[in-house]
Amino acid sequence: MSIPEQVDLRETRTGWRLEAACSGLDTNLFFPSTEDDQVQLAFTRQVCASCPVQQACLAYAIESRQTVGIWGGATTRERRRLRRRWLEHARRVS
Ligand code: SF4
Repeated sequence: MSIPEQVDLRETRTGWRLEAACSGLDTNLFFPSTEDDQVQLAFTRQVCASCPVQQACLAYAIESRQTVGIWGGATTRERRRLRRRWLEHARRVS
């Protein structure tokens, strides 16, 4: 799964959690004690890649500044980078 260059933070869909592909899976998979376990990360990314609400989940996590866990297939570090890019882009177009 690739992490998008830009995330549409205007994603306003509600109730997206009801469609989550991770629903019913062990929460610890998505909130690991370390985000450096590549085997676990590969598994969660695979689940997220097949998730119908991946974009909404990722946008929510970035917008609400979730500081732990894998959201939309992205680690905390990746989401921080995406947020920086989004802010830079927003500054350029305003
Ligand atoms: S993108 Fe991943 S973490 Fe987000 S709801 Fe879907 S499966 Fe769960």
